[in-house]
Formats: sequence, C-alpha cells, structure tokens
Amino acid sequence: MQQDPRPWRHLYKRRACTDLARAQKAREPLCKYCLKRGFANDGSLTASGAPQASRRRRHVAADHIVPHKGDEALFFDPDNLQTLCPDDHDRNRQREELHGFSQERGPDGWPLDPRHPANR
Ligand SMILES: [Zn+2]
Repeated sequence: MQQDPRPWRHLYKRRACTDLARAQKAREPLCKYCLKRGFANDGSLTASGAPQASRRRRHVAADHIVPHKGDEALFFDPDNLQTLCPDDHDRNRQREELHGFSQERGPDGWPLDPRHPANR
C-alpha cells in the first residue's frame, strides 16, 4: 500500500482552517504574485493576465508561505498565508516540491518567493 504523502490533509477539514482562509481572502482579495507582475487578479484572470476560461479556477486560494508539512503552528498562523490564483498556487506547489521554493519571477526578473536563495 502506498503511503499518504500528505498525512496532514485532515487539518484542512477543521473549522479554524476555513475561517482562516476566509479571513485571509478578505484581507488580501488579490493574487499576490499577479500583483507583483503588475496586474490585479481576483481570480477572474490566469497568471498571464488573460481571462480565466475555466469556471472551476475562477477563485483565489489562501496559500501557506512556509510549507507547514503538518506543523499546526505554521498551518494555523495567519501571518504564514498569502493569497494566490489557482495557476500560481499550482506552480508554487510543484516547484516547491522540487526545490523547496518557488522559481516564479516578477517583471523585473527577480524571484518572487522570499525563500528563493536570491532573496535571502
Ligand atoms: Zn496569480
């Protein structure tokens, strides 16, 4: 049997998590990475600024800045959240799994992720 790679999944079902995500999106309704690219994305656009064609992806997500890996203090820390569009959220997760940080770059060519070695 395969082991669950994300055994902390149950944390997302907690009421506190839903409330936290809602508060985060109320505080920062726009995708942080898209803002750094120079446009406001409330979930109606893709990460390249084109209209979001997929209805399922027309939203923003509360993303953990420092991967919590099941650490409840990190998981429930409101300061460890940022708002991302689904495109940025997916890319971030994939690249983080490879490198431990996002390789996403802003219009000036500088990496957006505070954990990228260039920002340390
Ligand atoms: Zn975005």
